[in-house]
Amino acid sequence: MTGYRGRFAPTPSGALHFGSLIAALASFLDARRAGGEWLLRIEDIDPPRCPAGAADTILRQLEAFGLHWDGPVLWQHDRDPAYADALERLKARGLAYACSCSRKQWRDHPIYPGWCRDGVREPGKPVAWRLRSDLGLRPVTWQDRLFGEQRFDPAALGDVVLQRKDGLWAYQLAVVVDDADQGISDVVRGYDLLDNTPWQRQLQHALGLPEPRYLHLPLIVNREGQKLSKQNLAPALPLEDSEVRPLLHRALTALDQAPPAELNTAAAHEQLDWAITRWEPNRIHPEAQRRE
Ligand code: GLU
Repeated sequence: MTGYRGRFAPTPSGALHFGSLIAALASFLDARRAGGEWLLRIEDIDPPRCPAGAADTILRQLEAFGLHWDGPVLWQHDRDPAYADALERLKARGLAYACSCSRKQWRDHPIYPGWCRDGVREPGKPVAWRLRSDLGLRPVTWQDRLFGEQRFDPAALGDVVLQRKDGLWAYQLAVVVDDADQGISDVVRGYDLLDNTPWQRQLQHALGLPEPRYLHLPLIVNREGQKLSKQNLAPALPLEDSEVRPLLHRALTALDQAPPAELNTAAAHEQLDWAITRWEPNRIHPEAQRRE
């Protein structure tokens, strides 16, 4: 796979936990196995959700696990002009519209019904910008490298928000613009993002951008069956080498790469070298929801 470029794109809403390690590790191994690059993007477009110091902690955690990225870190807070340019291009093509509706107004509908498509309903009120998705009603499809063929009905997706009423950029727009500008060929990330992918495919199509390949990973759940997340107080990844080694081994096991037991005590870079040469994403059981 020449020209492979992968990325890890954490939101710095807190430190990385075991679930984020799985996404970072799998995207790293997939890139390195292909002889490709692995980039790091900090998705800090929503400052109120990103406490000071969290991004710094993430960088130190990745380094402690030997997950060294290529090139400079891309920070979404620096990317306003790129997102504004993409929105302008959509507006110019009649594919984005201003919307004054509040969620409360359309709460009896499963998705936003597109009331502002032909003009803002309540002029003078703050507006969000939405993608007009009713113009090309083709099913959204892709071949997920692990979960196989995916097919979504565009009528069930609704008109995704591109810029919020408070002026903040929506994740869907930012991720699509950044993946394209960074030349990402392969997105490897958690299953919780699989149902965001159809909006990202729609946006890539609307903006005329290349479509990366996708590999979504089964989610890791805790003993109570909840997704590991900062909200569920999943413990932060350690920085101490003596704790990093066994945890990296557990992550390789959770990814079904079957590392030999004695690798448990090896340095992170040795475990990674072992895993790069043997990386086989087809070994991952798609249905499994691993206990932490
Ligand atoms: N920033 C997102 C997260 O931390 C991931 C985005 C992506 O991988 O596309 O959940």
